[in-house]
Amino acid sequence: MSLCQNKKTSCGACCGIFNLDVDKKQIHKILVTRTNDFKLNVIYSKKKTVIEFREKFEELELEFPKKDVYTYNCPFLGFIEEKKIGCMIHPSSTGDKNSQNYSFYGASICSVYDCKNKEERNWLEVLLSEMNLDYYEYSSIASNHIFVSKIQNLFIQNEIQIDLKNLKQKNFFEILIMEYLITKKNNFTSFELEMEVKEKINYKKELIDYFEVESREKIDFEIKKMFNKE
Ligand code: SF4
Ligand code: SF4
Repeated sequence: MSLCQNKKTSCGACCGIFNLDVDKKQIHKILVTRTNDFKLNVIYSKKKTVIEFREKFEELELEFPKKDVYTYNCPFLGFIEEKKIGCMIHPSSTGDKNSQNYSFYGASICSVYDCKNKEERNWLEVLLSEMNLDYYEYSSIASNHIFVSKIQNLFIQNEIQIDLKNLKQKNFFEILIMEYLITKKNNFTSFELEMEVKEKINYKKELIDYFEVESREKIDFEIKKMFNKE
């Protein structure tokens, strides 16, 4: 189990799918189309079929607008289980440790890349493993280290350790995540920069401002409840 491949679902944000500026339904359709085509036409031992698959989908997906033109969306991301997305040319399925060399990034990047959340925030993996999120919701929170850092920085500033056995904290995180999922700021690629903890920054305000205006009063109330501050 990892933040990328969790118990019930998984994240595929760094493979670029959320960089396509289309809605959730369309993202799902793209992933299903890729997966079905891959199953039907790619035979890993026939290298031509892997190359043809990549070229075909790179061409097909040019029709979709991108949020960031410089971020690549890799067509090898598809369904690897019913509710999990992942790399369809991962060495665990191809048996070849270099199989991701067929992608734009190549095996040396694909096999070692860890986003900030994966690298530094084990608590997030545990928290999300217990929530009922689909791959789209899961990816948007698992990859968004800017949002997660705002929550974590608030705890650091209040000198409180994150402890998921603490039900008050767990409830607080879950409320924030459910509200976050309705913001327009989700679905990142995990490559965005985040702030370091700085003493003078008002992390409470930073966090509240991240939410849509309609959610801010509720988030303010939850923060006061969490940190017992009026
Ligand atoms: S964005 Fe992070 S959690 Fe998501 S797949 Fe990439 S490394 Fe894993
Ligand atoms: S080849 Fe790399 S970028 Fe493409 S889906 Fe696999 S891990 Fe993601």
